[in-house]
Amino acid sequence: MKSLLVKIGTAIGLLLLLMTLAASATVGYSHALPVVAVLGGAAVVLFCYKLLKPLEALEELAPQVDPAEDPNSLPEDPFDRIRDAIQMREEQLDRQHMRYAEYQERFESVLSGMDEGVIAIDAMGSILFVNRAARSILSIDLAQVTGKPLIGLVRYEAVQLATREALETHKIVDTTFQTYSHNPREVRLRVAPMAGEPVAGMTLVFQDVTELVRLESIRRDFVAGASHELKTPLSAIKAIAETLLMGAINKSPDNMRFVQQIDQQADILSRQVHDLLQLARIESGLENLESEPVDLFDVCSESITQYQLEAEQKGVELLLLPVIGGDESGCFVWADHDALRTIFDNLVSNALRYSHHHGTGRRKAQVKVQIKASNSQCVVEVIDNGIGIAPEHQSRIFERFFRVDTARSREQGGTGLGLAIVKHLVLSFDGQIELISKLGIGSTFRTTFSRFYLHS
Ligand code: ADP
Repeated sequence: MKSLLVKIGTAIGLLLLLMTLAASATVGYSHALPVVAVLGGAAVVLFCYKLLKPLEALEELAPQVDPAEDPNSLPEDPFDRIRDAIQMREEQLDRQHMRYAEYQERFESVLSGMDEGVIAIDAMGSILFVNRAARSILSIDLAQVTGKPLIGLVRYEAVQLATREALETHKIVDTTFQTYSHNPREVRLRVAPMAGEPVAGMTLVFQDVTELVRLESIRRDFVAGASHELKTPLSAIKAIAETLLMGAINKSPDNMRFVQQIDQQADILSRQVHDLLQLARIESGLENLESEPVDLFDVCSESITQYQLEAEQKGVELLLLPVIGGDESGCFVWADHDALRTIFDNLVSNALRYSHHHGTGRRKAQVKVQIKASNSQCVVEVIDNGIGIAPEHQSRIFERFFRVDTARSREQGGTGLGLAIVKHLVLSFDGQIELISKLGIGSTFRTTFSRFYLHS
């Protein structure tokens, strides 16, 4: 179209030139006339070119249709084509804008839903975006933070230092810090440059690792405790085996005594491994617990029967008392039968283990199991009049490997894991366990469960 317009302009210019020459020939020759004609014609050509040039750009926007390809198409008005093209571009831009708004909305809702705190800042350190978790971790109350300098807004020195370093070096910086809140949290922060050259800004990702740190410390303590516990019988077995090898094997009756000691230590080792594995399974939820209605009286009777002989041998009276508040509907709970057995076996065996009054003989050692039923709850108390537990030890009594008297516990075949197992199992049935104890008087371990009615 450009060439067409320029051609029209040129033709008008030339026509003007010819008309001027013809007029000068008819009217009388003047030297000035050809010059005027040439200048006039040139001005017209230039004028047409300048005036119509902008249309050329619009023409390029118009979709090019080859009439040969579409024989039915009528010759189109070029201005219609330009208008259509502009409209098409407008629609394209609208669509792109909508898509961008959608992406942004989705992006922001994903970031808001994240547990990790995310902050984006520009290359000058001014805030571009803060998600909900970052606000909560850093206790940012201010509603409008966009555009504010991060360093002025966040008081934690670790965050300020890491951000400054990342902005200066354009490298990833990792750090950890603890929040000042009333419930302090351990936070891991990574400041990373945004992609682009030059760097457009930084993203700060905050991760609350409090629970992770707690579990890691439990795991460390557990491994240290377990290795220590396992080392004791293993060292004993090794020492006895070495004594036998050095000649004791041929000395009767010592050799027999040493072999019996190896057997005892192997038993302790096996109990420890059993308890450790059981505790690990319960804690990780892998213990296969199949809940059903279980009558507590039946389970407690089984435990009492199991330990009756041991109680007699130790001179301890072991009794299952009649249920208080019970009726013909029994005292059922919704739990796993074998797990309940583990709970009461551990409590009864501890009561027997720590009932023995060395040398005092003042009162008869007694262990009683008492079931109490109420409308909504079933309570089982394992009561002994044994050595009791001092107040300063009572809060730690359910910790794994905690023992008041390690030597005595080992001597009695304890692993230090019994009460930890009991507590985890009780909690897994939504029950509660508490200790009431007085040093030298005795202890009561009270477990409480929701009562289950068979035909409710
Ligand atoms: P253990 O295998 O050593 O008995 P537990 O976890 O069963 O481990 O018990 C932890 C510690 O609690 C015991 O070592 C003992 O010191 C104390 N304990 C538990 N039950 C009693 C009780 N009935 N009377 C006195 N002390 C007890």
